[in-house]
Amino acid sequence: RGGQAEREIPFARPGSLTRVYAVASGKGGVGKSSVTVNLAAAMAADGLKVGVVDADIYGHSVPRMLGVTDSPTQVENMIMPPTARGVKVISIGMFTPGNSPVVWRGPMLHRALQQFLADVYWGDLDVLLLDLPPGTGDVAISVAQLVPNAEILIVTTPQQAAAEVAERAGTIATQTNQQIVGVIENMSGMPCPHCGEMVDVFGTGGGQTVADALTRTTGTRVPVLGQVPIDVRLREGGDDGTPVVLSDPSSPAGSVLRGMAGKL
Ligand code: ADP
Repeated sequence: RGGQAEREIPFARPGSLTRVYAVASGKGGVGKSSVTVNLAAAMAADGLKVGVVDADIYGHSVPRMLGVTDSPTQVENMIMPPTARGVKVISIGMFTPGNSPVVWRGPMLHRALQQFLADVYWGDLDVLLLDLPPGTGDVAISVAQLVPNAEILIVTTPQQAAAEVAERAGTIATQTNQQIVGVIENMSGMPCPHCGEMVDVFGTGGGQTVADALTRTTGTRVPVLGQVPIDVRLREGGDDGTPVVLSDPSSPAGSVLRGMAGKL
């Protein structure tokens, strides 16, 4: 929209009724996107109007995980996002030709996020989830500038090394004065398929470590919102485009994720 003034971001308006959650993690592969799509699908199934911005330039896996088949369309000068599983979705991957890797630099990402928030026709949303790239990069700071009222959800594994990097990701929210809603521990053990005993594949305690550290730095209690076990059905649901909260809501991972979605 060269030359035109930037459109206002509706979610940043004072009195906006949309709750914006930015889902962050210290490093990749901890299940941030899986958590985002499952929370979104569960909230939509509960009757909320939900949108997801896939701002994870390195992963942009949200469309596949939600089974998005349509492309965005343009009406007037607004972008209409496709809907899947009752969730409106826009992804950086929808604007890169083929599957080309994104090698954009900070200012372009800021601009892309600005457009996703202002130039996409979201309608009246109850909840908007932003799937951020891992780490404390430019996008986290852009979110803070563009939507100062966005609240932060931190995803970590139980592993102590992962907890330390997740804690750094949370500290940036403190610096930008954003509220941290809580910590979601993912891959919290796996029930043995033979005897049912929990195997702590990635150790224990990472979620609590991050929550305690962020409680200290923010001076406000940051809770562990839930512990999602390792569950084959969650991975399969992601690969098939049917989030486990829909394909198998009473599975171990599905029930924890649905419970969290109901409380957010
Ligand atoms: P991130 O967004 O943090 O990079 P993803 O959500 O893409 O992580 O997850 C990485 C991989 O791990 C995916 O293949 C996903 O299906 C799988 N995965 C994530 N959480 C779980 C879980 N609780 N149980 C089983 N597989 C999981």
